[in-house]
Amino acid sequence: MTLWNLGSINADFAYRVPRLPGPGETLAAESLTRGLGGKGANLSVAAARAAARVAHVGAVGPDGRWAVERLLEYGVDTRHIAEVGEVTGHAVIAVDPAGENSILIWPGANVAIPDETRDAPLAEARVGDRAVAQNETNGQGAWLATAKRLGLHTAYVAAPFDAQAVGAVLDVLDLLILNRVEAEQLEAALGRRVADLGVPDVLVTRGADGVRWHGAEGVQDFAAPRVEAVDATGAGDTFAGYLLAGLDRGLPMAQAIGQAQVAAALMVTRPGTADAIPDLKDVQDARL
Ligand code: ADP
Repeated sequence: MTLWNLGSINADFAYRVPRLPGPGETLAAESLTRGLGGKGANLSVAAARAAARVAHVGAVGPDGRWAVERLLEYGVDTRHIAEVGEVTGHAVIAVDPAGENSILIWPGANVAIPDETRDAPLAEARVGDRAVAQNETNGQGAWLATAKRLGLHTAYVAAPFDAQAVGAVLDVLDLLILNRVEAEQLEAALGRRVADLGVPDVLVTRGADGVRWHGAEGVQDFAAPRVEAVDATGAGDTFAGYLLAGLDRGLPMAQAIGQAQVAAALMVTRPGTADAIPDLKDVQDARL
């Protein structure tokens, strides 16, 4: 089946810094790496590397053609990426020696996706396909609602966190993925536990502590493989892309979580974003 991913595409400027700069501080970086990023693009690349058939739905500016090419090279279907008059989204990422990061984003074209660009893929989609979105584009709520009505399996990655944006899609979700901080924010905003949201499967990622799955059979915890963290950028996106690809291949949730956690753990041992996402062979061969 196809995974339709409505998501952001960013140019990432990743700087190694001796420490994360504080308010009012000017800090010289030690190195710069430029590459493809954005939660959406990262998820598409991860799913493609995990051998899923994935179509990206989104937009870039005229300065972003290289990013579309890059997605294509990874085997992502790019027919539904529009070129619009805005600058391509970009991110300025600082990474400290402990692998901790701090990120500044300009959304640009990611929030100027034309309606027809979002609608066209759903006209092609088939019952049983999967639709996934994150919170870095425009129009994802209506898009997921339409996808659900058409019989697609719907997933939402609640990042960057916005309580209203999550609240607006809860009713149409089959799967919600959020990190520990986002889960706490959501519970505080809605006054409900994540287990009581009415979403059949909720996955809370907990960094080095692994993943908590709230499903029909209750709560289950999955430990993360132990690795030496170098750069946490893209760990959550890698996890989500691998997870959806695994489910699409027919893996039960517990196995899909296991494989996605190996992929995400490998990811944190590598600097970089989309280009650093491990492929399925690396993940299958990993002894973590
Ligand atoms: P996000 O990147 O969205 O904040 P997390 O930090 O929870 O999300 O990371 C997502 C997943 O990546 C985790 O559930 C885990 O599987 C993996 N991961 C992240 N950090 C580590 C780490 N230090 N060691 C092993 N796995 C990690």
